[in-house]
Amino acid sequence: MSTLELVIRLVYLVAAVGFVIGLHMMRSPATARKGNFVSAAGMFAAIVATVLLVADGELGFRVTTWGWLALAGGTLVGTAGGWGGARVVKMTAMPQLVSIFNAVGGGAAAVVAIVDFMRIGVGHAPEPAFTIPVSLDVLIGAVTFSGSLIAAGKLQGWVSGSPILFPGSRLLSTLSALAGLAGVVIVVANPSTWALMVVLGASLAFGVLMVLPIGGADMPVVVSLLNAFTGLAVAMAGFVLSNDILIIAGALVGASGAILTKLMADAMNRSVMAIMVGGFGTGDSAAGAAGAEGAADVRSTDVDDVAIQLAYASKVIIVPGYGLAAAQAQREAGELGAVLAERGITVYYAIHPVAGRMPGHMNVLLAEADVPYTQLKEMDEVNPEFDTCDVALVVGANDVTNPAARREGNAISGMPILDVDKARSIVVVKRGMGQGYAGLQNELYSDPKTGMLFADAKKGLTALLAAVKETVA
Ligand code: NDP
Repeated sequence: MSTLELVIRLVYLVAAVGFVIGLHMMRSPATARKGNFVSAAGMFAAIVATVLLVADGELGFRVTTWGWLALAGGTLVGTAGGWGGARVVKMTAMPQLVSIFNAVGGGAAAVVAIVDFMRIGVGHAPEPAFTIPVSLDVLIGAVTFSGSLIAAGKLQGWVSGSPILFPGSRLLSTLSALAGLAGVVIVVANPSTWALMVVLGASLAFGVLMVLPIGGADMPVVVSLLNAFTGLAVAMAGFVLSNDILIIAGALVGASGAILTKLMADAMNRSVMAIMVGGFGTGDSAAGAAGAEGAADVRSTDVDDVAIQLAYASKVIIVPGYGLAAAQAQREAGELGAVLAERGITVYYAIHPVAGRMPGHMNVLLAEADVPYTQLKEMDEVNPEFDTCDVALVVGANDVTNPAARREGNAISGMPILDVDKARSIVVVKRGMGQGYAGLQNELYSDPKTGMLFADAKKGLTALLAAVKETVA
């Protein structure tokens, strides 16, 4: 082993330790930002080391001047795209960005495998130790690429967020999965470019057909699953290139993505396998129609009334949702909770696992607003508290509070919800009768206990805060 190779291996080891420490730090909002930097520093070191490895010819080929120019250009474009995209994207559009990153990761891993197969495989008789990771890399990478693009389109509203099914779509999806797997077997048994192209085409089709029928409240689980796939594809690319750091990074992303997927699927009362066969989130919109009829029955309330209710309550549960994030009203929500807590009122913030538009969205926002962690209560912990809660203050949350989830036949059927309807009194702050992500009207709004405070979350909470302060002064 040359000195350079030894140094590079040591850098890879340090980078891998950085990934693990970074991931560990991401377990808490208090250290997550630093954890991100630690992991990114590890990745930067790994990239520099790999470039040195290539420059030294250790990978078995020499890069031409054009090759270096292409590498520099690609690095510049990739860095600018990643940095710029992450800086300008709104917090509420984060899942789309994550989906696009997943697509790029999976696509890059598939391209690496195809290029290496063309370079080494064609004309030779490559071993299964090479063809297995190559074909699996193309299979998983291509599913991730096309599936993530459709997911990003759905989240952005470019593709309908409702389940899209057409006659024969399930059959087509099954056939494309079988064709992809058959292609893998052929590539391993009798390596050929056409068989690899069958794997590519079938997997691209399967990715599209797998995500199109996903709708309602089930997108977060799919985005997380595709994230786990990206990790697997990258790990396969590591086997193809015999690159340890790619294997480690891919395995970490794959494993953490798989754990997150399982946790989210459990929280949503869904089975991960059901996603793969496309029978997921495809309920009809019966509840939406029923709710829409009830929309006329809602009762409006005003800031002064709500302020009195809050000021004289013993227990208040604030239920944040996507609307709070969209309005960036976390500071106002935090301040309102603090003013009430100062009066000796018990205040909790109820956190639903898929509230907002990304896992942990509400935890991140409320941590930003310095809400004490002791007041943040996850769904299972807070649900028993609603029975004895005087006022449940719902701020921009919709699907995660919709009692329709307890019935069959709609897009959120079976999803556990926050039991807001059990509170003694309910106040909902939102701009109008707009539907949530799942496209359903919320039966909670026509509950006789519910008062609708129609306002933008930030403006509504600012006015409420002033009115509460005045009431208690
Ligand atoms: P919803 O998407 O169900 O509802 C949000 C509500 O906020 C809308 O009804 C809207 O009503 C209101 N709103 C929008 N802007 C404002 C504003 N400026 N001020 C006040 N209210 C506003 O949100 P939930 O958090 O309840 O549920 C999240 C949904 O998103 C779930 O269905 C989940 O599955 C899905 N999802 C979650 C992801 C995740 O990882 N967490 C990722 C992708 C999807 P109005 O227009 O009347 O104001």
